[in-house]
Amino acid sequence: MTARILVVDDVPANVKLLEARLLAEYFDVLTASGGAEALDIVARTPVDIILLDVMMPGMDGFEVCARLKADPRSAHIPVVMVTALDQPADRVQGLKAGADDFLTKPVNDLQLVSRVKSLVRLKMLSDELRIRAETARKIGVEDAFRLDLEDGPGQVLLVDSRAASQERIVRALKPVAEVQALSDPQAALFEAAESPVDLVIVNAAGEDYDPLRICAQLRLLERTRFLPLLLVTETGAEDMVIRALDLGVNDYIMRPIDPNELVARTLTQIKRKRYNDRLRASLSHSIELAVTDALTGLSNRRYLDSHLRTLFNRAASRTRPLSVCITDIDRFKQVNDTYGHDAGDEVLREFARRIRSTVRGADLACRYGGEEFVVVMPETDAATAAVVAERLRAIIEGEPFVLAQGALRLSITASLGIASNDSGIETPEHLLKQADRALYAAKTAGRNRVVASAA
Ligand code: GH3
Ligand code: MG
Ligand code: MG
Repeated sequence: MTARILVVDDVPANVKLLEARLLAEYFDVLTASGGAEALDIVARTPVDIILLDVMMPGMDGFEVCARLKADPRSAHIPVVMVTALDQPADRVQGLKAGADDFLTKPVNDLQLVSRVKSLVRLKMLSDELRIRAETARKIGVEDAFRLDLEDGPGQVLLVDSRAASQERIVRALKPVAEVQALSDPQAALFEAAESPVDLVIVNAAGEDYDPLRICAQLRLLERTRFLPLLLVTETGAEDMVIRALDLGVNDYIMRPIDPNELVARTLTQIKRKRYNDRLRASLSHSIELAVTDALTGLSNRRYLDSHLRTLFNRAASRTRPLSVCITDIDRFKQVNDTYGHDAGDEVLREFARRIRSTVRGADLACRYGGEEFVVVMPETDAATAAVVAERLRAIIEGEPFVLAQGALRLSITASLGIASNDSGIETPEHLLKQADRALYAAKTAGRNRVVASAA
């Protein structure tokens, strides 16, 4: 896991020091001696993490950070502020500017490396999701990606066995989050997995549990793997913090807790969580759009092409039967010509509904294009496929299609061609081709009938 880190400091000795330590960990390091130069580098080069000095002549670190976070092209890059003194006021101002983390000079080696690594891990995940969402957008689906952080108050789960400390944290977070406090770690694990939680805060000073074990368990469980974790430790508990960050804890805060810092760190984690959630949701939504036919809600041809291959190969390797049925509405052009395109669309929707009501759950029904539909039937031999196709034909012919809110009743029929993976059929394309030939035969033989492929 390597990454490109940009070190920004106006004092060359500081730059050299950080650069040397990061190079020793095989990070790729870029350097800048001021805010303007840093912004310039970020605009031209992809950067994974920025270590940003606060006190610089000209544009100070806060302003650089605010500008980075205001620009959608750089807002996702984690920024670590490097403060000269351990000034709580600086930290709060930094968090307000959007900083993701802090380091205090002189920079502690282990802390530097573990914080950078933990941020790199987090960023890799966000990047992965962003790239996938980007691809999903490129393949021509409607933009389902909106970034809106005003999604109601954050849901925080607090694991803390001390009543007084519980109470202080709940009070501090009251303005920004709803906090559920639990003292039993097992109950907390269950809650974290089962309820909509944005952040888990673990008090490391709890008496009856091992805080790092809770963190490790949360990281192991599938349902809580991506949940942000914030550890509250005693001052000077650096070893614990380093181990926690290695376990994948996202952030920590030391006692005595500064309520402003707690609020700011909590908000940062919640924002990041919601950003990633939204990316994930938009991704699955985009994928769904990409494989669904918008008019009928059935799978589309793109999905059929990829999934039929899977089903075909699986049937072949297990020597199991597989059949496909292609159906095409008879004289559909006349429906459009006589009643208009909208009536045609209504027929297509009702046709799809009837197909869906006829086939089994294991069958795959798709709109192949225009007024052609395909049903793929796993575990189905030619004789059974003929029965299913005949049932579908009868369901189309049996009841008139009621359109325009009952104003129109049309008799619709369809022709169907079926083929199975018996003999000599080597590829899914060949199977579809055979079914298509059978469909053509059904059309020429007078329509409204089922023909099985002879091959
Ligand atoms: P055949 O019995 O030989 O299949 O005759 P047909 O009229 O059904 O076949 P043809 O292929 O000549 O016409 C298909 C028509 O389907 C032409 C096209 O405009 C129409 N069509 C294709 N897609 C849509 C759609 O999404 N909505 C509507 N309303 N019509 C569509
Ligand atoms: Mg037709
Ligand atoms: Mg056609």
